[in-house]
Amino acid sequence: AIYLDGLSTAPLAPEARAAMLAAWDQPGNPSSPHAAGERAAALVETARRSVADLVGASSAEIVFTSGATEANNLAIAGAAAAAITGGSERRHVVVTSIEHKSVLEAAWRLRAVGFTVDIAPVTKAGVVDLGELAALIRNDTLLVSVMAANNETAVLQPIAEVAALAHAVGALLHCDAAQAVGKVPVDVIDLDVDFMSVSSHKMYGPMGVGALYVSAAAPRPTPLLVGGGQENGLRAGTEPAPLIAGFGTAAEVARSRLEKDARHAKSLLGAFLQDLSERQVKIHVNGNVSKLLPGAINISIDGIDAQSLAMIMARTVMISTGSACNSGQINSSHVLDAMDVDEKRKKEALRICFGRYHSDPDAREAARQLGDAINRMR
Ligand code: PMP
Repeated sequence: AIYLDGLSTAPLAPEARAAMLAAWDQPGNPSSPHAAGERAAALVETARRSVADLVGASSAEIVFTSGATEANNLAIAGAAAAAITGGSERRHVVVTSIEHKSVLEAAWRLRAVGFTVDIAPVTKAGVVDLGELAALIRNDTLLVSVMAANNETAVLQPIAEVAALAHAVGALLHCDAAQAVGKVPVDVIDLDVDFMSVSSHKMYGPMGVGALYVSAAAPRPTPLLVGGGQENGLRAGTEPAPLIAGFGTAAEVARSRLEKDARHAKSLLGAFLQDLSERQVKIHVNGNVSKLLPGAINISIDGIDAQSLAMIMARTVMISTGSACNSGQINSSHVLDAMDVDEKRKKEALRICFGRYHSDPDAREAARQLGDAINRMR
């Protein structure tokens, strides 16, 4: 079977697996003051350096979390709580209509503590509308949250431009970069973000770990989890050293082959689409085709119900019709809704992702299988 659902979760890099296996065999609490503890702490600090290097941060600015969901919650709830206790008058937050649910829900929660939340629209191409966003940002805006790349369409967002808008009124910028880090160059200084979320399992690392970048210049968010004061007081709980070691190794590998991976993924997607077109399969791209994560795309196949196709292909070519986070809610993509994709095309929408571990024959075989299934459906 060929797995083309890497935006849900990517396969584990063998290097990350090896790092974890070695770490599991050496128990130790990173906070313990003996050799085992020091060894675990060294693993965590090495990984912190690797994750920091991948995004152009300094080690002290990386807080390990259980994933991007937690990082998003920490940035949003944490910044709001810090503003309230710190005496800031700012009670306004802006997010976009295509954010991951962990950003949207975290923002909506703030309404209960007196915040107003505005949702910035996107264009039909799935890119945040900078004019509309600028019009929503106010003098009392505390935080703007815009993702680096969307998880359903793979469309990259103009983060540096958003940063300029947010910072012009003294607002903070949070960026959910779960899908972008490790796949395209992401540099916290170039993007000028204050907070940025990273997920390990989207970049060939293990599930259950991620990070929040907290700029040294930004106000400290109030932690969600309190207790032992780990992670510089921003995230209590014993650091899972083996998971973090796997994440750090995945970050190193991603950094060393970022361009190579991108070129490879792009070329496979190109071959796949070319092959589909030779099979007379008519597709429509949902999203700005010139600004996509390498190897990833959201397409609608003319006249083919995506849910049925994905079901037929479930054991041969694994694809998904949208975000795994919304699975069960059939055809309810808030992202495609926000892009004003029409009902027919929405039902035809598929998300496809080629990556590091696919080969050219995989791309050809996937196109062949898909083409055959489509012919059978017709
Ligand atoms: N944000 C985006 C854009 C995502 O794609 C995901 C994963 N679906 C998350 C956040 C959540 O990440 P995690 O699984 O690490 O909690």
